[in-house]
Amino acid sequence: MDLGIKGKWALVGGASKGLGWGCASALAQAGVNLVMVSRGAAALEASADGLRQHGVTVLTVAQDITTPAGREAIWSVAGGPGKNFDIVVTNAGGPPPGDFRDWDRDAWIKAVDANMLTPIELIRATVDGMAARGFGRVVNITSSAVKSPIDILGLSNGARSGLTGFVAGTSRSSQLAGRNVTINNLLPGAFDTDRLRSNQKTIATKAGKSVEEVSEARRKTIPAQRFGTSQEFGETCAFLCSQQASYITGQNILIDGGAYPGAF
Ligand code: NAP
Repeated sequence: MDLGIKGKWALVGGASKGLGWGCASALAQAGVNLVMVSRGAAALEASADGLRQHGVTVLTVAQDITTPAGREAIWSVAGGPGKNFDIVVTNAGGPPPGDFRDWDRDAWIKAVDANMLTPIELIRATVDGMAARGFGRVVNITSSAVKSPIDILGLSNGARSGLTGFVAGTSRSSQLAGRNVTINNLLPGAFDTDRLRSNQKTIATKAGKSVEEVSEARRKTIPAQRFGTSQEFGETCAFLCSQQASYITGQNILIDGGAYPGAF
């Protein structure tokens, strides 16, 4: 399917690996030029090189996207579109798992900064330009934990719920939705990435089990009987960024192999 977005510019956060990479890869295959962001320069460059084979321009910004300096570097990267992105995929890695009794104010501020305020800052900087140009797509990578919270991911449950509430209201502004600017959240269940593996390690250590035992037990709880792949996550993201998806906004789209048990 031609997604109708060839030649547009996308900003993708947390893009060197995992779900962010999946989104960058699917967008590159759709002919979209990219600014890819993550902190580690070597891994980022290697991933960007792989995507240049699709014949698109791929720029890299090795910065912490959760900081004002990191975001400033994105807006000023040489050869980039400034703040005139057509597509923004927000993603910055998730907060650490743990026990809420151990989280002080600083831990909460860090989580809210990364998983709520950073996406809001990126939206604030870009959506009015998108509206003026008559096309815009924002996809926030959040988590299935927004709909079905996980006990050890309290920082994620809390911070992402704040973003979800913000998006629910802002996306429905006629100044955005009425000008072909959509904002949606994509909620991953269990995807086979480094993040999932490190969470499983934490659970295994806590429970005195092996990582394989924990991983196998989790896999069996998923109706699809497998973990998701970054590629399929990215393809869903690219569809939400397509011309065809212009009537989808303000949604929380679960992609979890059927793991969430509710009807709504
Ligand atoms: P991942 O495999 O650990 O990849 C995270 C990516 O983000 C890496 O490229 C990392 O590179 C980058 N990153 C992390 N912090 C950053 C920062 N401050 N600034 C810029 N880049 C940063 O994680 P993932 O599994 O793809 O997860 C992506 C998001 O989905 C996370 O928020 C995670 O909590 C959420 N999620 C994942 C799952 C899952 O099953 N995988 C489920 C639910 C929710 P550097 O470290 O080099 O910066």
